Amino acid sequence: MAFEGLADRLQGTLQKIRGKGKVSESDVKEMMREVRLALLEADVNFKVVKDFIKKVSERAVGQEVMKSLTPGQQVIKVVQEELTNLMGGEQSQIAVAKRPPTVIMMVGLQGAGKTTTTGKLANLLRKKYNRNPLLVAADIYRPAAIKQLETLGKQLSMPVFSLGDQVSPVKIAEEAIKKAKEDHLDYVIIDTAGRLHIDEKLMDELKEIKALANPDEIFLVVDAMTGQDAVNVAQSFNEQLGITGVVLTKLDGDTRGGAALSIRAVTEKPIKFAGMGEKLDALEPFHPERMASRILGMGDVLSLIEKAQATVDEEKAKELEKKMRDMSFTLDDFLEQLGQVRKMGPINELIKMIPGANRIKGMDNLQVDEKQITHVEAIIQSMTKAEKVQPEIINAGRKKRIAKGSGTSVQEVNRLLKQFEEMKKMMKQMTNFQQKGKKRGFKF
Ligand code: GDP
Repeated sequence: MAFEGLADRLQGTLQKIRGKGKVSESDVKEMMREVRLALLEADVNFKVVKDFIKKVSERAVGQEVMKSLTPGQQVIKVVQEELTNLMGGEQSQIAVAKRPPTVIMMVGLQGAGKTTTTGKLANLLRKKYNRNPLLVAADIYRPAAIKQLETLGKQLSMPVFSLGDQVSPVKIAEEAIKKAKEDHLDYVIIDTAGRLHIDEKLMDELKEIKALANPDEIFLVVDAMTGQDAVNVAQSFNEQLGITGVVLTKLDGDTRGGAALSIRAVTEKPIKFAGMGEKLDALEPFHPERMASRILGMGDVLSLIEKAQATVDEEKAKELEKKMRDMSFTLDDFLEQLGQVRKMGPINELIKMIPGANRIKGMDNLQVDEKQITHVEAIIQSMTKAEKVQPEIINAGRKKRIAKGSGTSVQEVNRLLKQFEEMKKMMKQMTNFQQKGKKRGFKF
């Protein structure tokens, strides 16, 4: 997973301070030294790290922390908030033109994932907002690019506008916008040409398209795996062309995360979407706060819930959300959730969204060994109703009975109970941290 090394290091460091009733300046200094190293190792821009450490240090030794009842926790909260700020604070929105169509220009280097992202974005716009996009093949230099977009259009049953590779991209953009107006399509997504490196010719062409198409958004697509290079590319594109947002692709890979943490600070442009795989539905709106929580091992309950809502019965998902918030989540719910999770897709991705999951022993095994889930299910199924709601009553005798009934061992029963207890604790922490975001406008 992306951020794995960084997450491990940060969580290890923060763990030391978590329960502290008193935090001294030297504690903070010591901790910041480790956080600094962790960020640098994750390939975060040097200057960004420096500013980040300065901000966190100032706040961590300030009144708000030192005077609080739980200074250790407060320091972690400060780190979480500043990580969120680093990645852009509030989740950003996507433009809607006053008079349709809204024009989006996709730009970026070859191989970053531009064409794929064009398809994914169109898919998201239609699925989530009922919009009708027109895909525009304006990359006339890579012959396969036009075909690739046409194939994506077919898969999505969406119109693709192309004039072949003998007409200038500027003209293609112009004609495409005309066509979208005629056909009452509300989004035009232009897939422009990429190059292996930034060159003047490419920029000139993009500037020409920009001048003519007057886009509402210019999304730069960058590959998160390329780390600092992605940041440099973003800076260049922004200086020369002016971008409105960034789409970070391949966050499903094991990138160290430096790009995600530096791009916003360096370019002052928000990361709007994250590419999480090659499939057409693998594009997610980028939520700085949720990402910060994930990095710090607080899980990402909200994304989990959204995934659940997309796959699972909506009523049930709402019920689950409420239970997670008011802490009435029982082993029965856990069991049901396991069943749903199995339906939802790659378990190792989902597990990471559960608060504290990465710190619970045995959960790692769950990631690779589906058999263990079967054991967990059997254990819960062998419990009585009362036991599932109130696991505290499960004494030694009951444990033996449950182990026997489920064909497992008392150790396994113990492990599950401990995991569940820790999970509930983390949910509580998570709920306390979560600030209620206000909904407004056309948000993803
Ligand atoms: P372009 O040259 O920028 O148009 O790049 P493409 O859209 O052709 O993508 C290059 C490669 O990256 C393709 O094999 C895509 O399937 C892959 N790709 C794009 N986005 C993602 C992503 O978010 N995750 C992963 N794993 N692969 C991606």
